[in-house]
Amino acid sequence: MRLPAIVNRLVAALLGVAAATFGGSVSAATVDRMYILECGEGRTSDVSIWSPGVDVGVAREFSDNCYLIRHGQDWLLWETGISDAVADKPEGVVVGGGILTLYVRKTLQSQLAHLGVAPTEITHMAFSHFHGDHVGNANLFTNAKVLVQRAEYDAAFGPDAAKYGFNPALYGKLKDNPTVKLEGDHDVFGDGSVIIIATPGHTPGHQSLLVRLPKQGAVILSGDMVHFRENWDAQRVPARNFDREQSLRSMERIASLLVAEGAVLWINHDRTQSSGMPRVPRYAE
Ligand SMILES: [Zn+2]
Repeated sequence: MRLPAIVNRLVAALLGVAAATFGGSVSAATVDRMYILECGEGRTSDVSIWSPGVDVGVAREFSDNCYLIRHGQDWLLWETGISDAVADKPEGVVVGGGILTLYVRKTLQSQLAHLGVAPTEITHMAFSHFHGDHVGNANLFTNAKVLVQRAEYDAAFGPDAAKYGFNPALYGKLKDNPTVKLEGDHDVFGDGSVIIIATPGHTPGHQSLLVRLPKQGAVILSGDMVHFRENWDAQRVPARNFDREQSLRSMERIASLLVAEGAVLWINHDRTQSSGMPRVPRYAE
């Protein structure tokens, strides 16, 4: 059941929980469903770059997901994964100065086509951050309204994009998209069903996404706020993060939100967790 946003806000205000928990599961609206698309995979020969001092020299594989959310007549795409062009290179593409090899076995475009969704039908788009494994196909979605933290936008479109590990060729067309520059949390549809949560640290304007599903309840999509379950449990900060203190604060914030919302954390790059997700044409609800 979807109630008008004003009703949800009133109920939340009456319950006195809005400020701390975005309304909580008692009163908030939900999305219709969420597809978890395969948006490539990664392989590193030394995972300790993401877990300093731990698992030095140990190889690891990463999953990489995109999330397509149906809300009434709107489609929100969260992340666009590794560029579909990488699918033409079965041996993969080496990035990050040799630390990571990226692969695409199934293109984002083919999965959207399977669902009958044209890229021009995507009405809203947001990314956790502007690294290449998250904005790889951004240029395909020319109609979507982009929801981005101002700090991330300024870094991505400023003169020092490369310094942050960004590659403007992957997302340069977004300059022409309608864009909302955010300075913190943002209720995407105004009814509490999808909320962008500012989680800076991995990059200057990193963000995570709280999604309320009709049956499963609230989930939080991690972006790269954390990369693996073990790093979450031990609250480890990758060596190359933009700001270590911000990263720790963002993890604390998400930890308390998970409790307050009764939410589950879905960690994008955790291959073990991702392998249990429903895949197109199935969906989470
Ligand atoms: Zn990533």
